[in-house]
Amino acid sequence: MPRIFSGIQPSGELHIGNYLGAVKNWVALQGQFEAFFCVVNYHAITLPYAKADLESRTREMAIGLLASGLDPAKCTLFIQSQVPEHTELAWIFNTLTPLGELERQTQFKEKSAWQEQVMAGILNYPVLQAADILLYRADLVPVGEDQIQHLELSRVIARNWNARFSPDAPYFPEPQPKLTPTRRIVGLDGQAKMSKSVGNTVGLMDSPEAMWDKLRPAVTDPARQKKTDPGDPDKCAAIFPLHRAFSTDTTVAEVEANCRGAKWGCIDCKKVLHANMVAELTPIRSRAAELKTAPAAVDAAFAEGAEKARAVARATIADVKSRMGLPQ
Ligand code: SF4
Repeated sequence: MPRIFSGIQPSGELHIGNYLGAVKNWVALQGQFEAFFCVVNYHAITLPYAKADLESRTREMAIGLLASGLDPAKCTLFIQSQVPEHTELAWIFNTLTPLGELERQTQFKEKSAWQEQVMAGILNYPVLQAADILLYRADLVPVGEDQIQHLELSRVIARNWNARFSPDAPYFPEPQPKLTPTRRIVGLDGQAKMSKSVGNTVGLMDSPEAMWDKLRPAVTDPARQKKTDPGDPDKCAAIFPLHRAFSTDTTVAEVEANCRGAKWGCIDCKKVLHANMVAELTPIRSRAAELKTAPAAVDAAFAEGAEKARAVARATIADVKSRMGLPQ
């Protein structure tokens, strides 16, 4: 079975942007691949944070992942800081990564632009990402299009290490992107990427009423000023893509026809979407509520995942050290 690795920031409760962009896809991939999924809290500490806030965001993310259907029996699900080999391999890779490669990374330029003082962790973030992936010698990485640049750097690092320490038979595979079927989900404001801090998304744990309060004013095709104006779903930045994600193909076809033919108003259309979102997300919300009352079970699931991950990680580090002349 090919191996896949993917990580998610401990950003607290899931919202439909990270659910559709990553987690729903992971649930579909577990079982088809030997899958390693990780809450990347070492990445999260590269920006200023409060301890209690990081702890609660990590716990909420852990609960959200289990509630969404990630099954520890079908995948290896863990928290990055519980597998110290990630940072060990990152240090090794730092010694092989040209500074210029890191300074060229778009994310470094964006994040460092608004920092008064730029910490080295922001610069070295993609090296840790390479270590995350290569520690498990993953063949594929489920990514969105905006993350392809980081994956390219992981391939460069794998190539550099192989050329120097394993020239005859490459030890690290050069990981390939597995593009997620859901493209970037635009926020309900029709502008920016979905984000909790911008306030343009729906939380997975939102009640049906709270979901509707957010969907109701969401941006649609601006040409539809009144119900009798024909619309174009392709110009409906916020709602139509959500229909594609939450509604059946038959409903999506119905939405297209009723929008172009001005048979539905946008509120009618949003009501259908709302019903489909509630149907998919209510069981997740119920499971999350149960898991919140069982913190020990959540901790145990992640501790077990970390042990499974460490067995693979330790073997990789042992191989790497022996090829580099480093005593174990
Ligand atoms: Fe968007 Fe639906 Fe309104 Fe068409 S009818 S513009 S798809 S919300």
